[in-house]
Amino acid sequence: MTKALPFPFLVLILGLLLMDCSGKSAEIDLVYPDGNHKALIMSYDDGLADDIALAQLFDHYGIIGTFHLNSGLLDTRAIWNEGKPNEFLGTYLSKDTLVHVFKNHEIAVHGTYHKALIGLSDEEILEEINVDIENLSILSDRKISSMAYAFGSTNDHVAEVIGTTPLTNARTVKSSHNFDLPQDYYLWNPTCHDSEALEYLEAYLSLNSPSLSLFYVWGHSWELRDTLRNQNILKFCHEIGDRDDIWSSGAGDFADYHASLKALELSTKQMTNPVGNGIVYYREKGQLKSLHPGQSLLR
Ligand SMILES: [Zn+2]
Repeated sequence: MTKALPFPFLVLILGLLLMDCSGKSAEIDLVYPDGNHKALIMSYDDGLADDIALAQLFDHYGIIGTFHLNSGLLDTRAIWNEGKPNEFLGTYLSKDTLVHVFKNHEIAVHGTYHKALIGLSDEEILEEINVDIENLSILSDRKISSMAYAFGSTNDHVAEVIGTTPLTNARTVKSSHNFDLPQDYYLWNPTCHDSEALEYLEAYLSLNSPSLSLFYVWGHSWELRDTLRNQNILKFCHEIGDRDDIWSSGAGDFADYHASLKALELSTKQMTNPVGNGIVYYREKGQLKSLHPGQSLLR
């Protein structure tokens, strides 16, 4: 299981290590790929046809969503969904529409048949998840990197098993109620459910911190059939979308970028981006700059 170095510590270490001759701190201002310190992940589960309208809403506001699908249930009727708000009989998305619906969004795993993983054998866990990865890879012709635990069913052991799959991250349903970057990408606690997102909105929009932060929201598009909930998500997207101070990212791209930051090699005189790593971004005197793999930043 990957253990993330807490980002404030990384920034602190950089600040301590990169001192100029006068002893004055020369902290490197690491930023997200678009130059910002703030980021947004919108993560939605189950893959019902309601995802279509939500993906269109995200498109309208320039928001990138991460949509967790149960590939074994696509093209079927969601029996469990009967009698839910507005008495709409839910249907899962069609396999042949995924690439179109999620053209601008991340397609991710939620288990082939939406099984709770606690209580399954390791072999059963891997079957449930690896088949979903394979199915979604074939249907989308994309690399599949992210997952959300069905029913939020996970623990340290389940997360350890998921860490052996090709996935880079897996989301829980346990709210962190903060904007911190995760300690453990296979037990990634979101900030909050989307029913609480408006409560955190103003605090995040007004946040002005030199540290990297993340507002991570999760939910189900089928819950948004409720009129008030629908109005609230519209308001949320209207307020947080199309902003030039927040990086909207899929969970997979976010995890990849943070992994690249953690792989930077630090010495007292320089910071090196190792060969094979991703490009990392920083600001120098306000200007956005990039450090490519194999390059070093001398101080
Ligand atoms: Zn689910």
